[in-house]
Amino acid sequence: MRVTAYTYPWDVARIGVDRVLEDLAGHGIDAIDLAASYHPIDTLSPRGDSVRTFTSPRGAVHFPARIDRYHRIRPSVSSREISAAWPAIVERAPSFGLAVNAWVVVLYQPWIVDAYPDCTRVLPGGDPVGSGVCASNDDVREYVATLCEDLVDQFGVDLIRLEGVAPGGYDYGWLRPRVLVDVPPLAQDLLALCFCQSCVTKAASSGLDVERLRRIVTKSIIGEINPGESGEVDEATLGDGEISADPELHEFVVQHERASIDLIGAVRSRVGGSIVSRLSTTTWTTYSSLLGADANSLFGELADVIDQLLVGQRDAARLENLVEVEHPRAGAIGRTTLVTPMRNSVPGGMAPLLGVPDEGGLGGRVRAYLELVAPLGLEEVCLYNYGLLRDRDIRDIIGAVTAVWG
Ligand SMILES: [Zn+2]
Repeated sequence: MRVTAYTYPWDVARIGVDRVLEDLAGHGIDAIDLAASYHPIDTLSPRGDSVRTFTSPRGAVHFPARIDRYHRIRPSVSSREISAAWPAIVERAPSFGLAVNAWVVVLYQPWIVDAYPDCTRVLPGGDPVGSGVCASNDDVREYVATLCEDLVDQFGVDLIRLEGVAPGGYDYGWLRPRVLVDVPPLAQDLLALCFCQSCVTKAASSGLDVERLRRIVTKSIIGEINPGESGEVDEATLGDGEISADPELHEFVVQHERASIDLIGAVRSRVGGSIVSRLSTTTWTTYSSLLGADANSLFGELADVIDQLLVGQRDAARLENLVEVEHPRAGAIGRTTLVTPMRNSVPGGMAPLLGVPDEGGLGGRVRAYLELVAPLGLEEVCLYNYGLLRDRDIRDIIGAVTAVWG
């Protein structure tokens, strides 16, 4: 089984290029997934001569992006020392038998929010989110496509891992969250709808009554959070179940999903020419309760523009559906899965070991998880991540992979 390892460029800069590559190759790892753009993070690394922490409060681009190539949104590049890890890894990786993939965080980029506030997602109540930009914004699409093209042109990466192409929940990336009331699943999904100028314009141009949508959405959120208190009843008050069945709202949600798929399509059109890099992404959606039967057809649209999917147990039915409907790319799409000791669930599919019996230490838990997902037909396992784990953790994970696939 092919194994890749997510790796932070700041760990490479601190620990040393050859040392990192030697460690990875020594564990039998086949490729390094090096972060090219990354969200805000606070980390503790047990590697090197001393335990070190790293903080990136607004996220950044971590490779030497060629600024002149970009249009309106220009990359906020981290220090020269960190971004220099990229060319150094690309130069040295072949001598260690390692391939290089680019790990690109897409929408969760607060530095874009700070510099280009009109690209920000706007929640139904009119509040801009501090953490993320909107996939339907044309400048965001142009920026992401240019960034991937820049990576492929400079470094000829084998695969681009697009992480977080789907919008996060209303509270994604919050620092010290304060939510003291129960927010039911339907209210969570509705709260994550975007009413930024791009989403509003696109909805209106396809004939949707956006102001009516805003009224029924905000009214339903209040109703979900205040059950039993009818409040003011007007034309925007929909009964239980009516909001999910509203055809205009459904179309609006589908537009949200399609914005992320179109963004991947924009990347594909730029990197799928003479230099072909494979594109990989996650399958997560924040609108699961609102998509209904369209979830499968949208999954099919995603399959049209992607080469590999990062999957977990919950994807089994959707992957089977691709085969059942004889999707032309059903057999062409590679499947990979993420392995991490993380216990806290994070939107986007992190913490796959959640729910696996807590037996046999890390190796036992990873093996139990891999046995559950093996029937999905994996081509690869992604280990998360080099700098955050000790060698003994990586040995346990590799041992579990070997125990399942030999
Ligand atoms: Zn939007």
